[in-house]
Formats: sequence, C-alpha cells, structure tokens
Amino acid sequence: MLVIMNNDATESQVQGVIHHIESLGYRGIPIPGALRTAVCIVGNQGFVEDSQLLSLEGVKETLRVTKPYKLVSRETHPQSSAITLGNVTIGGGQPVIMAGPCAVEGEEKALTIAQTVKNYGAQIFRGGAYKPRTSPYSFQGLGEEGLKILAKVRQETGLLIVTEATDNDNIELVEQYTDIIQIGARNMQNYALLKRAGHTVKPILLKRGFAATIEELLMSAEYIMSEGNNRVILCERGIRTFADNTRNTLDISAIPAIKEVSHLPVLVDPSHAAGRREYVVALSKAAIAVGADGLIVEVHQDPPHAISDGRQSLYPEQFQKLMLEIKRLNI
Ligand code: PEP
Ligand code: MN
Repeated sequence: MLVIMNNDATESQVQGVIHHIESLGYRGIPIPGALRTAVCIVGNQGFVEDSQLLSLEGVKETLRVTKPYKLVSRETHPQSSAITLGNVTIGGGQPVIMAGPCAVEGEEKALTIAQTVKNYGAQIFRGGAYKPRTSPYSFQGLGEEGLKILAKVRQETGLLIVTEATDNDNIELVEQYTDIIQIGARNMQNYALLKRAGHTVKPILLKRGFAATIEELLMSAEYIMSEGNNRVILCERGIRTFADNTRNTLDISAIPAIKEVSHLPVLVDPSHAAGRREYVVALSKAAIAVGADGLIVEVHQDPPHAISDGRQSLYPEQFQKLMLEIKRLNI
C-alpha cells in the first residue's frame, strides 16, 4: 500500500506516518516525488487496515499497489527515474553507452581500448575484474589487480567505470573502486548478494538471468531497493530459447514491457545476447528504437585474441559505426 501525503506535508508528518506503520509491524519507506511524498508500506502479507492511517496529519489518501514488487513499480513512482553520476545521466533521455572488453586483461590494453571507446563517444568503461565463467578452468579475471587497472582508466580517461561483483566476498572491494556495480545474469537470484547490494552507496546494474521472467527480474531489483539502495539500472542481455543462431535471444519486447510497469532505467547488452559481433550493431539500433536508456557493449582492440568473449566483441571500427548509427536514430 502507498500512503500519499498532501503536497504541503511536513517532514515530521511523514515521520509520523512511518512510525505508525512500524507500530503495525511493517516498514514504511518514504518515496519523495516531484509534487508530493508517498510512503510505501512493505512487509505486509495482505490487507492493511488504513482507517487510522487516513486520519493522521498530512495524509491525503491511500492506494493499493497491485503488483508484488512495490518500490520498483510505476504505481509507486509514476515518473521514470534517472540516475546521475558526474555528468552522465542514465534514464535522462539520451542513450548512455558503456563499452569495453569482456574482461580486464592488463593495464596497457585496458587503457588503449578505453581511450578508443571514449573517442567514439562512450561515457562509461566496462570490463570484468571478477569473471563468472561456465568452466572453473577458464580465466577468472585479474581480481583486485583488475580493479586497480579500472581505477587507472578512470583517472587517465575520465570515463566512469562499471564492473561486476560476483559474490559477497568481493563486493566490498569492488564498491571501493567502481562507479557502478554490475550483478550478472548468473547472480540475478543470488539473494544474499542482492541484499548486500542494497547497502552500498553505488548504483547497481542488474542483469536479467537467462531463464528469468520479467517479474523475477523486478523482484530481484526489489530486493536491492528494499534494503535502501534505490539506484538500480536493469539490463536485458538475452534469454535462452530454442533459437541456435545466436548465443541467446535478445528479448526486445522486454524493454517496453518493463517500462510499462517499472520506473527504473533499462539498458540492453546486445553482445551477450548475440554472441556474434556481426549482429551487435543491428541489435543496438533495435534496442534504442524500442526505448532502451543505453547499451553495454563489448569492444576489444584485437577480438580474435581476447581472453574471453572475443567472438562477440566489436572491433573498434565497428564500435565507431555503432555510435554513428545510433546518433542517426536521432533519439
Ligand atoms: C558480462 O557482462 O561480463 C557478463 C558476464 O554478462 P552476463 O552476466 O549477462 O552473462
Ligand atoms: Mn563477456
């Protein structure tokens, strides 16, 4: 349930509502809006008696939230939310492009490709220091050394950094170095990690699991937000279907479907969806055309020799083409 405050409600009236909700055994989370504040009741299993709430000072009305997710829902927060980091706004109308290699492979290589993607217009550098790999024998990432390289990239290029935390053991270190913490597809339902992500001050890029429904993705975002971190960015990165022409099937309809029910920004990862660089530019254009707030794309200076995901990594010239074609969409 949402408790809608009057436009001129005071902070102490909002606190009064929260105290009352707590006295009922639930939690009240204030959601400031452009015109007025709402207080979202979480923790209730069903009906909440609202007659006393309605008589509290500053309360305008109560509204039932019909979805199982509350804080991520557009019912709770009708305006789309935007996340601003420095001079980059994700969800602000202009597509934000995150680009870089699958994994951080070394300082010189990372600096070179970062400068390249920056020159072509990327605002955020991606690169994994901790890699969730299907095989335990594959390269697992450079760990803290990789994080230090990412910090150097930020310092040298001014690009913001997004990198993945793969478990509760490395998230603390990751949050010290990065601007945005990625939670990958394989971890979308790692509830301990989601709860921990709810306690960091850094925004979270939450990728959809490859067998997860949109509702499951939104419930995972709810885990993060219910712990106090409301800066969550969702990412569609392809799901598993019977189609075998691509690594995964980009669920392009997920973008408008998520936007209909949630206020959170939505990115698309065309690289892990396609699995082949030949399709990445086309999928990127499709993503922006259906309303994605940006892209996260793998780019490598020498894809055939990339340590991971070379087959789907763009050559720098292809990334340049991608940026030009997106500009041409005029969004
Ligand atoms: C990645 O972005 O590096 C990655 C591993 O992606 P996903 O979790 O979507 O597979
Ligand atoms: Mn990858």
